[in-house]
Amino acid sequence: MLKFTRRILPVLIIAIPLHLNANDQEHEQHEAHEHGAAQLNLVQEKQSILMELHLSGMDVLGFEHPPSSPQEQAAVTQAEQKLSDTNTLFVLDSGAGCQVRSAHAQRIAVEHEAEHHEEHAEHEAEHDEHKDENHSEFQAKYAFECTQVNALKRIKTNLFTLFPSLQKIQAQIVTERGQTAHSLSASQPDIELP
Ligand SMILES: [Zn+2]
Repeated sequence: MLKFTRRILPVLIIAIPLHLNANDQEHEQHEAHEHGAAQLNLVQEKQSILMELHLSGMDVLGFEHPPSSPQEQAAVTQAEQKLSDTNTLFVLDSGAGCQVRSAHAQRIAVEHEAEHHEEHAEHEAEHDEHKDENHSEFQAKYAFECTQVNALKRIKTNLFTLFPSLQKIQAQIVTERGQTAHSLSASQPDIELP
């Protein structure tokens, strides 16, 4: 019983600030789905670099509704392949000796909760273009293994070239050296590690 309690307590303590923050985060996520904006999370642990990327379907494909023709289905498949091709997407510092371990991308339908709609009802006019629209995004996950991980200071991205409607990427980076968040743009497309 004691063991159980000791395991649960830290979870609760962590959960409280996260819960208090939930509204802000929801709002951030909503804003992040504004077309033209993407999110990137990077975590380094020992020799592993894990990255997760969220892009709106509009920026990747030009449409967000479920693919309804063979052409649209082919476009989704191509986009998933494009987002899985780490060689064209990223350039990691060569001295860090990084190898791709896995890369995977998929289209995901975004459901807006009813509560969320109520909360933003007063903004309905400005969000009119999104009203009752199916939203979707692409989620991509990448894993690298780096023999000299401390030499990894910068990851160049080609995302702004590959997806020209993309305006900014909000990057959150957590490494054993520290954590940082910064915004990437076409003129500053590199992920800087602390
Ligand atoms: Zn959308």
